[in-house]
Amino acid sequence: ETEKTAYNRVMLKISGEALMGDQGFGLHPPTVERIAREVQSVQEMGVEICMVIGGGNIFRGLQGSAQGMERTTADYMGMLATVMNALAMQSALEGLGIHTRVISAITMNEVAEPYIRRRAVRHLEKKRICIFAAGTGNPYFTTDTAATLRASEMACEAIFKGTKVDGVYDKDPAKHDDAKRYDKITYDEVLAQHLGVMDASAIALARENSLPIVVFSLDADGGFKGILDGTGTSTVVSD
Ligand code: UDP
Repeated sequence: ETEKTAYNRVMLKISGEALMGDQGFGLHPPTVERIAREVQSVQEMGVEICMVIGGGNIFRGLQGSAQGMERTTADYMGMLATVMNALAMQSALEGLGIHTRVISAITMNEVAEPYIRRRAVRHLEKKRICIFAAGTGNPYFTTDTAATLRASEMACEAIFKGTKVDGVYDKDPAKHDDAKRYDKITYDEVLAQHLGVMDASAIALARENSLPIVVFSLDADGGFKGILDGTGTSTVVSD
């Protein structure tokens, strides 16, 4: 462990879309592998890592229900999509020789471990990467809320939200040249200004548990490590 970081245990949240590469749908294994290497470089700093991966590259409950599906059924399908993504990430990490566990909020013992908090903590202590799948296990929630919940339960020091942009802006930087990135912003400002960092229930839960959310870009190689060693750009959401 040559590089220094202030963090001992972190949550990495990525959307399902981060895994689809340039495709419009599904999984792109080379992209999954690239992100796995990002995770590896942070693990090599001695950091214990939790992960939550969304499912939007495969299925979103709201989209299904907008097309006439029963909402809760559609949400369960979305949760199952996150399990597929978690397995793809597990496979990529294990290809790099990293020990992992996929821990599902919906029991499916043949595929993933059930979620037992103390057991998950033990995995982390043994430096296994815990990939929390199936969201919170409840419809009407998102994987952002799942990431916040598990990060709180695992006593992570922060949630790192890997996105396409290097932080939170006052307006969409893809559309406005004069968009300004915040170095820091409060939970209340994010909620009041409807900045799309995470959904409101996730932000509120993070605020209640004083869990900082670090928004950074996962597109550049070395991006995740750069945030942990303090050299990269990001926006920190906190009190
Ligand atoms: N989902 C759910 N409960 C949860 C987490 C997720 O019902 O606790 C469902 C929901 O339908 C959601 C889908 O799973 O649309 C995929 O998750 P999400 O949209 O958060 O994925 P992302 O946008 O991060 O790829």
